[in-house]
Amino acid sequence: MQTIDIVVPAYNEVDSIRPLYERVFTVVERLPYAFRLIIVDDGSTDGTAEACEKLAETDRRVGLIQLSRNFGHQAALTAALDAADADAVITMDADLQHPPEAIVDLIAAWEAGAELVHGVRRRIEPGGFFKRTTSNLFYRTMSFISEVPLVADAPDFRLLDKKVVRAIRGLREQSRFLRGMFAWIGFKQVTVQYAEEKRREGRSKYNPLKMFAFALTAVLSFSRLPLRIAIVAGTLVSVCAFVYGGYAAAQRIIFARAIPGWTSLAVIISLLSGAQMLFLGVVGEYLGQVHAEAKHRPLYVVRQTLIPDVTNAKQRS
Ligand code: UDP
Ligand code: MG
Repeated sequence: MQTIDIVVPAYNEVDSIRPLYERVFTVVERLPYAFRLIIVDDGSTDGTAEACEKLAETDRRVGLIQLSRNFGHQAALTAALDAADADAVITMDADLQHPPEAIVDLIAAWEAGAELVHGVRRRIEPGGFFKRTTSNLFYRTMSFISEVPLVADAPDFRLLDKKVVRAIRGLREQSRFLRGMFAWIGFKQVTVQYAEEKRREGRSKYNPLKMFAFALTAVLSFSRLPLRIAIVAGTLVSVCAFVYGGYAAAQRIIFARAIPGWTSLAVIISLLSGAQMLFLGVVGEYLGQVHAEAKHRPLYVVRQTLIPDVTNAKQRS
């Protein structure tokens, strides 16, 4: 029998674990595959890991990878993909925003030959205005500036064939934007729609600041447009300065007239020094990425791993 691992990063999701477990297995029990549910506890402080351990004791299809602290969603997903060992891996969130019932559709697309199936959300209960607008803006901007074609509105509900998992494991970049990495690796990719649900338990782990940092990671790791803007802006300003300098010099030399203007000088200098600092900041961000890469730190640190043997899942508990 073929195996499928369902991997779930969870950060302070203690109240979601049990409902997630029940809904997932109600759905997959009817399917002709051996399933494991592997939860990655991303440094939770609310007993998420203990809840998973308890489940793992009673059901041998459940596994846990506990990280040593909070490393973030993308690192937790990476830990899950590193540990998974199945013919296909499904990634989903712990908060049940990704309905387990849609797993059936992901698998159907895989059976039909797709190697990477993206769940694309259809919002039936639109979330907050702020989140919706910023997310739309993010996808629009990214599809415009990204060096790889991103699938819009596809958060982290996916099915990956084991070939894709193997390929993703080879990408060890520190600054991780997995959606971009999935777009980059190629393979036969398809999309499947699912109806996104409202978060039932707990709260979103992404505050506006974290969302901004995430968007910045995405831009920095998949676009060099900010650097190009710096080059173009620098060229334009230089051309203007050259033309205006020539004009000012001509006024002085030919007509013996100095152009008066403390105000214009002050404006030009402050404008240009502002632009310089901004672009220095842009360069600094890219340099920061190189710095992070140069340290070669692992992407996450594991405290304990309780992963059931694949054969356990095959025998069912
Ligand atoms: N998550 C995580 N580490 C973090 C933040 C989030 O593992 O540092 C998990 C979280 O538990 C959830 C998933 O990532 O399973 C998506 O997070 P969330 O639902 O908070 O994001 P949203 O759906 O609001 O964008
Ligand atoms: Mg969520």
